[in-house]
Amino acid sequence: MSSPAPINPTISSTPIQVQPPVQTLAVPQLQRRNYQDFPGRNKFFCGGRFMTSREYWAFLVALVLIVGPSVLFGIFTCPFLWDNVHPAVPIVFCYLFVLSFASMIKTSWTDPGIIPRDLDPTPEFFDDQGSAYYGESEWSHVPVQKEVKIRDNTWALRYCDTCKLYRPPRASHCRQCDNCVENEDHHCIWLNNCIGKRNYRPFFTFIVTATFLCLFVIVFSIVHLLLIVRDHSGNITFITVFHAAPVSFVLAIVCFLLLWMVGGLTFYHCSLIFKGVTTHEQLRASIINSKYPGISANPFNKGSPAQNMIHVLCRPQPKR
Ligand SMILES: [Zn+2]
Ligand SMILES: [Zn+2]
Repeated sequence: MSSPAPINPTISSTPIQVQPPVQTLAVPQLQRRNYQDFPGRNKFFCGGRFMTSREYWAFLVALVLIVGPSVLFGIFTCPFLWDNVHPAVPIVFCYLFVLSFASMIKTSWTDPGIIPRDLDPTPEFFDDQGSAYYGESEWSHVPVQKEVKIRDNTWALRYCDTCKLYRPPRASHCRQCDNCVENEDHHCIWLNNCIGKRNYRPFFTFIVTATFLCLFVIVFSIVHLLLIVRDHSGNITFITVFHAAPVSFVLAIVCFLLLWMVGGLTFYHCSLIFKGVTTHEQLRASIINSKYPGISANPFNKGSPAQNMIHVLCRPQPKR
């Protein structure tokens, strides 16, 4: 049996090389953007550039009602009108459709004027004696109302417990979006967004152009049918006309029904703009009721319908 080999330690003659300390590279932290921490019920996409609310079904219905008849009119009626009436007719139709569609998308996907939260995190509260103090307790949860003067009218600024701020005049808290919105007109389920200071102009453009689009389709669908009758010298039955241009016939009826809705909305908003009030103010009658009798007492009335319209439609768009 062989004995184990003796351990023969050898000393290396090569000098020990000291390794330089390993430098740890700092991993850049991805900066979170404001919308990623936003507690409201809005949906953001494309890096926060676009936003909308969460109820999509009504918006999809509205999209189908705008795009569907327009595509059918473009495919089945416009070629006939181009050849038999004038090429300008389909061109004007395309212009109206693009303007209506673009303003619809812009209204739906634009920040309506959401007010940042926590602007006034420590409001004043009333205590038992009715005097104001800072803070909150079990028995006092009603923040002190603040008041501002607008053209000799006193305007109460209410505190929003959700957004932790005193709402500016004409702002409202939207329950669907869970935000305070500056100059909020209303929350539109069909466009899936609030209508406020930043998107009222594209909203108004949308309803006006949609009204003209409906009128345009009705008129030129009827022209299409009448030209078919004229080509047969009037000796043609109703069924034959229907079979010759069924799409134009159906479009004239569908757009007539849509015209009542969108045209009525346009008429209503024109009257609101002329008075210088928003839909909320009209519904609450907070301006034109006994508190502010007469439209002249409306502190936001610019003096005339034309000036009110210029103020609403030509004012600069505030920052997001
Ligand atoms: Zn709020
Ligand atoms: Zn809303």
